[in-house]
Amino acid sequence: MPYTEDEMLMLSGIQHFRYCPRQWALIHIDKVWDDNRLTAEGSLMHHNVDNPFYRHKRGRIIRLQSVAVASAQLGLYGVTDLVELRPTTSSFFLNHPLYPGRWQPYPIEYKHGLPKENDADELQLCAQAICLEEMYDVPIKEGVIFYGKTKHRHTVKFTSILRDNVEAYSERMHAFFNSGKIPAVEKSRKCQNCSLKDLCNPSWSKQHGKVKEYIRQNLYEEIT
Ligand code: SF4
Repeated sequence: MPYTEDEMLMLSGIQHFRYCPRQWALIHIDKVWDDNRLTAEGSLMHHNVDNPFYRHKRGRIIRLQSVAVASAQLGLYGVTDLVELRPTTSSFFLNHPLYPGRWQPYPIEYKHGLPKENDADELQLCAQAICLEEMYDVPIKEGVIFYGKTKHRHTVKFTSILRDNVEAYSERMHAFFNSGKIPAVEKSRKCQNCSLKDLCNPSWSKQHGKVKEYIRQNLYEEIT
């Protein structure tokens, strides 16, 4: 059943959820955010891409930046880094009010760092594609992730397995969000690079349980 507007969650959260459900819940349920060096550099890289008034034509390809997307089926909404519109002869195509013709949308996501060990980036890009498909009724078979550190383009095929995984993660995110529960700590190697490691504090959490209490004691006192 489609989700209502009030039930929509942020699409970018799917990469947090894939990385660690607890990290996602701290950000999206507890509304905690702690910018570390990795996310700060990532924000800088996104600065130019996130200009909502920016679109241009490169050769025969139109490039649209910061396109708002949403899917009622997934219950996710967000903003893509870049959508290229490539000319197509297919009978499934997108119309653009400023650029007459038949266009095939092609989502592109920019990442600051290296390709991840898991498929978090692929899931995010695929979720964007599913949104675009739902909005414009046009099938999208692939997209690209551009990695800043290696400066390479990674083509992502939107296979049925990847699509099923997007759906499954989205369902789990909604289930956690509705329950309001923060998943337990799963301490592992990934905690080293986690933006929230100081707030989550895996070893502390193991002994004392609740992050909210830690935040109340350590942050609220500073700002009141
Ligand atoms: S520190 Fe580890 S357990 Fe805590 S949110 Fe980050 S990745 Fe998850």
